[in-house]
Amino acid sequence: MLLNKPHPLEVKVLTRRYEYPQKEAIGVDEYVAKEGYEALKKALDMTPEAIIDEVKKSSLRGRGGAGFPTGLKWSFVDRKSPKPKYIVVNADEGEPGTCKDRIILEHEGHRLIEGCLIAGRAIGSNRGWIYIRGEYRTQIEAMDRAIAEAYARGYLGDNVMGSGWAFHLSTHTGAGSYECGEESALLESLEGKRGNPRLKPPFPATSGAFQCPTIVNNVETYSAVPDIILKGGDWYAALGTPKNGGTRLVCLSGHLVTPGVYEVPLGIPLMTIINEIGGGVWKGRKLKAVIPGGSSSPVLRPEECDIPADYDSLAKAGSMLGSGATMVLDETTDMVKLMARIMKFYAHESCGWCIPCREGTAWLAKILARLDEGAGTKKDIDMVDELAQGMMGRTFCALGDAAAMPAMSFVKKFRGEFEAKIANAKVYMPAPQTQPLVVL
Ligand code: SF4
Repeated sequence: MLLNKPHPLEVKVLTRRYEYPQKEAIGVDEYVAKEGYEALKKALDMTPEAIIDEVKKSSLRGRGGAGFPTGLKWSFVDRKSPKPKYIVVNADEGEPGTCKDRIILEHEGHRLIEGCLIAGRAIGSNRGWIYIRGEYRTQIEAMDRAIAEAYARGYLGDNVMGSGWAFHLSTHTGAGSYECGEESALLESLEGKRGNPRLKPPFPATSGAFQCPTIVNNVETYSAVPDIILKGGDWYAALGTPKNGGTRLVCLSGHLVTPGVYEVPLGIPLMTIINEIGGGVWKGRKLKAVIPGGSSSPVLRPEECDIPADYDSLAKAGSMLGSGATMVLDETTDMVKLMARIMKFYAHESCGWCIPCREGTAWLAKILARLDEGAGTKKDIDMVDELAQGMMGRTFCALGDAAAMPAMSFVKKFRGEFEAKIANAKVYMPAPQTQPLVVL
């Protein structure tokens, strides 16, 4: 996968070593020639507390979706615990519209490895895993090559850069479940079990992989760490807005002139991302809606999009930055059809562990499909809202909320379209049988 042609409004930190077009992965020689592993060298001379303080200063927040402050998460690990401590990379990138981690995995595995090493040093860990979704075959192979290079050069192994400290890292392949992007389900899967989430607390920092203290962060989060250590937390924080430090990768998709993956400073106006970096709505059409942070994030109407693209501003607007997958929808988009398709995804991906999500997503998918086919009633529209509200906050993990939030926002903001489907409905005829009935 190729990164897009650079745009002048981008701020390149994570992607600063990339050429355009960057066809090959950045090998260890090239990485080292461009300041690679310099941050690790520096971190090896720092105390764990100093590393964590620097990450705290940077205001780096989890880039997987939740946006939890990274330094704070690392500080929860009890370094004095007699148990081993583990580093886990969540590379189970499955949120619809999201394709940013694959760029790092494929093009610059050494950046991720260096981030893991620094995190390992900060919490006193000697072992890490990169849990990658099984569909990312090319990226798994690229990461395995980078890991082998790092071992060969002594950046990984029993004596990291001659420091006497051991750190081992390997990839672990997922089996194609969206739910395994949830950190505790991911840990279950890593341990070889079915990927159901765990009851929290305890959180992974206390009891994670194999019941040992573990930090789980996203690929992009770990990848930001080397530059934070090298140039300082304050430098990184200043690139963004208060409490929203640094840059992030956005995956622009939908009805845009130049969709793709770009690196932008946090706090850049959302409309600048859409109109300037994304080239604006294609074919001269009007903007109808924006899904700002992956399919779980509540949809925004155009008049709600004049906001900075950072965690806090989007939360204030009733949505979220999520995974950074910004989907732009033009005036021709059938919002009912889109919502029905999104819900079909969640119903399919629900792990079935808890009733509100297992039943709720299945019923929502059924009702939304009925509405889309023109066979629904006004009561169905209310039922979508009621069911979704009933799921909110009552499910075992965040997938229930992830399915409920877009459903509620679509009905609230585009109710007219749902009603029009009913008004324009023809008499409902079930789909014709595709196979002859077998008469016994
Ligand atoms: Fe599984 Fe959904 Fe319940 Fe999460 S919310 S545990 S995905 S059934």
